[in-house]
Amino acid sequence: MRIEQLGDGTPEIAVVAAIHGDEPCGVRGVERLLAESPAVERPVKFVVANEAALERDVRYVDEDLNRAFPGDPEADTHERRLADALAREVRDCTTLSLHSTQSYAEPFALVDTIDEVARSVCPYLPVSVVVETEAESDGRLIEYPHVVEAECGLQHSEQAADNAVELIRGFLTATGALADDAEPVAGDDLCEVDVFRLGSPVPKTEGDDYEIFAENFERVTEGEAFAAADGDELVASEPFYPVLMSAYGYENVFGYRAERVGVLDG
Ligand SMILES: [Zn+2]
Repeated sequence: MRIEQLGDGTPEIAVVAAIHGDEPCGVRGVERLLAESPAVERPVKFVVANEAALERDVRYVDEDLNRAFPGDPEADTHERRLADALAREVRDCTTLSLHSTQSYAEPFALVDTIDEVARSVCPYLPVSVVVETEAESDGRLIEYPHVVEAECGLQHSEQAADNAVELIRGFLTATGALADDAEPVAGDDLCEVDVFRLGSPVPKTEGDDYEIFAENFERVTEGEAFAAADGDELVASEPFYPVLMSAYGYENVFGYRAERVGVLDG
């Protein structure tokens, strides 16, 4: 784990990159921002989490870090020890954690619940969607208070790294670390952040060839074929919004069903 800081004092703001080692956009975003070394009004901590996995360009070394929280300093696996160390680093911080996907090119935010932090941060991010996960307790960083996750775009893409820089900038403005002109990125479109609530996963049946016909965040209607495994179509038994859905992004699921629950009005 590598830690850098902008500004003096004990940071109450943190940016976390590389929870997953094969998602380098966050690290590139952090490095580009640090290279500019902008003046900050509040100290900020930057954490590159899973350096070992990053070096090998793999999601994880022993187990998924984002299922290993709260972790254990004595654990047998690299990620479980790292989870403990990382949780300590960000415990008292409002935190942005940067990820990327195989499912969606546009940046979007994820939060556990729409709370004060989500309401104050999300309108400053270059996103039009926030996903409320209300996660079952399964060891994700997002279950901690004051954590906002951002999906920067497509894994390994140049655009995801560009988006990461803008997401960090928006987050630092929202938290008062960057003075900037204090204008939300969305400007007058402040109320245009759609809120989706994550529902059940869409399991993958066994197969070799997977296809997705639906677009993420675009409504699938009842009776619509939205995916296929080896040519066998999956048909929606009721309407839903697909989220994080991709043919090969996850081993056992295509992605998730979600419902649209409102807009953030800032
Ligand atoms: Zn990730």
